[in-house]
Amino acid sequence: MRSKAKAKPQKILILGGTAEARTLAAELMAQGHAVTTSLAGRTVDPILPEGAVRIGGFGGADGLAAYLRDEGFERMIDATHPFARRISENAIKAAAISGVPLEQRLRPRWQKLPGDRWRSVTSLDAAADALSSGSTVFLALGRQYLDAFVSRSDCRFIIRMVDPPETRLAFPDHLPVLGKPSSDPDREADLFTAHGVTHLVCRNSGGPAGYAKIIAARKLALPVIMVERD
Ligand code: NAP
Repeated sequence: MRSKAKAKPQKILILGGTAEARTLAAELMAQGHAVTTSLAGRTVDPILPEGAVRIGGFGGADGLAAYLRDEGFERMIDATHPFARRISENAIKAAAISGVPLEQRLRPRWQKLPGDRWRSVTSLDAAADALSSGSTVFLALGRQYLDAFVSRSDCRFIIRMVDPPETRLAFPDHLPVLGKPSSDPDREADLFTAHGVTHLVCRNSGGPAGYAKIIAARKLALPVIMVERD
């Protein structure tokens, strides 16, 4: 029996920051490729993937193209979060400038299931407008997406954050909940119940990592303001 030919080892740059990027790095390393994962450096204590890691921006598409060329990468894979648009646009431009082939790995979005009470919106401003006065709102968004909600002083906000805020957030009535999302829907449901949450606001990121909160909201029949991708 003929054995399957092994692909020639390549030097690969993964644009990461997601669980999928970490899985991919491990898979490609196991296949014998030389893998470097790039992280933006947004979280203080990121889970590091296997292989080499570099942290911080490249200085736009030109900077990324120069890095690809200088380091001799043969392939680039964009496995960033679906809402991280700028880096994905830069990757397309950098591939064109450098001639290094680009592969995109985009997670499929979550689909509404029976029992889900989603109101889909296409922007954070629309999500803020959709809240009823007096709501207790769980924001599962990430710190750079909070500003649109600050003006809703008629609502209380429970705000999940991976790292503690460096300065007090501008919300008049809020509570930061520190830590990563749980993968256990029951724990997410307990969290919502403990804080008297009446609405969940999140983005349709897709993937398994953040889905427990969606199951929890379904179980509790909580309305979800779902910010969809463009
Ligand atoms: P973004 O708006 O698309 O990117 C802003 C800038 O950050 C980019 O222009 C680039 O700077 C730098 N950057 C982003 N991702 C990078 C990476 N993987 N390696 C090196 N530089 C990177 O990105 P974002 O929404 O702030 O997300 C930042 C990172 O967090 C991404 O890697 C993403 O996968 C991860 N993440 C994002 C979210 C989210 O909700 N957006 C959620 C989970 C994880 P230069 O122009 O200087 O190169």
